[in-house]
Amino acid sequence: MIPNARDTALRLVAEARDELVELTRDLVRFPTVNPPGEAYEPCARFLGERLARGGFAVEYFEATGRAEHTRAHPRVNVVARRVVDPSRPTIHLNGHIDVVPVGTGWTLDPFAATVRDGRIYGRGTADMKGGLAAAIIAAECLLRVPNAPIGTIEISGTVDEETGGLAGVAHLAEIGRLTSRSIHHVIIPEPLQVDRVCIGHRGVWWFDLVTTGRIAHGSMPFLGVSAIEHMGEILHELREGLLPELTRRVTAMPVVPEASRRATLNVNTIEGGQVGEAVQSPCVAHECRAIFDRRFLVEEPIEAVRAEIDAVIERVRRRVPGLDLTIADRLLVHPMETPRGSPLVAALSSAIGDVLGREATLVASPGTYDHKHFTRIGGITNCVAYGPGVLEISHQPDEWVGIDELVQAAQVMAAAMLELSHG
Ligand SMILES: [Zn+2]
Repeated sequence: MIPNARDTALRLVAEARDELVELTRDLVRFPTVNPPGEAYEPCARFLGERLARGGFAVEYFEATGRAEHTRAHPRVNVVARRVVDPSRPTIHLNGHIDVVPVGTGWTLDPFAATVRDGRIYGRGTADMKGGLAAAIIAAECLLRVPNAPIGTIEISGTVDEETGGLAGVAHLAEIGRLTSRSIHHVIIPEPLQVDRVCIGHRGVWWFDLVTTGRIAHGSMPFLGVSAIEHMGEILHELREGLLPELTRRVTAMPVVPEASRRATLNVNTIEGGQVGEAVQSPCVAHECRAIFDRRFLVEEPIEAVRAEIDAVIERVRRRVPGLDLTIADRLLVHPMETPRGSPLVAALSSAIGDVLGREATLVASPGTYDHKHFTRIGGITNCVAYGPGVLEISHQPDEWVGIDELVQAAQVMAAAMLELSHG
């Protein structure tokens, strides 16, 4: 630990408060709405030009070959790198530049980045342009500290996190730009609150079940086979035969809110009848499709999760002769957990203690974020989310981030980077 360098870094960040506010506002003014992926290129160029002025080597990566990378909506990522001492670790700060659509209920212009009562309002202020700005200011201030023991700092602005990140972090990991061979630590400043370190997320399995029946006149249902009745049997068996067991399972991961520590199953969508035709049909339902959302725990192997659903289907098959049912995967994301002994978790926790004077809380996210791509494709296990803003107000109307929290998060990141570089 080098208290002088740390104190200087914290002071420089505090002095850069106005600059941090203006950088956040500049980023929010780019309406990088996803879908469809608006204004990615100007936003990436803006970041790249700023970082280049600060001495970073800047590269742009288009998601060439991916269907969503189009002329109208190019997927442009930016990665900046500054090497100070190559014998020390490389720390990568990553923020997604896309924001979710505006939606209704706003009382302020979502892209004006209005400053009021110590907050900045706008789409993406919390999730996560405020966090990205705080990371940039943290890095820039650290680089201004005389003789600070810094290794290599990388900063990336990536696309499409809100829709899965395949043209963003996943693409950069696939082409070998984000890899454990060159990166030791990754901080993703998602809005998890300034005193919490997020060490991963639960798994997600979306699957479709489709039952097929036999059409007949609705006045004589005994002549047909109802696909909807068959789906009803499946739903009943899931509710009675599986859900009680899922609810008993609690993960050891500190998922917030606490109710999300249990394994869950949700029916996201259901449709049935003469699928593809008018809703009202005078017939016995020919087809029924349901999309299920199973959130599974790090303690649940995916094979067991799948086998449980197979067993439910088997039980219904035995009870319902002639059941015609297919199952298909829609999405699979494995759970992620940063190793408990990770120096990254320790450095951020002690920086939270130093800067905020209170103990850090370790949390995990109920949903997923780009952590999965860094770890599963890039092989980087020292990855966490840490950043300013409140998860619950992300994606909402009148989204905001607190200016004090922006500054505190930047100070925590600067102190943590210093400790990781020194160690
Ligand atoms: Zn986010």
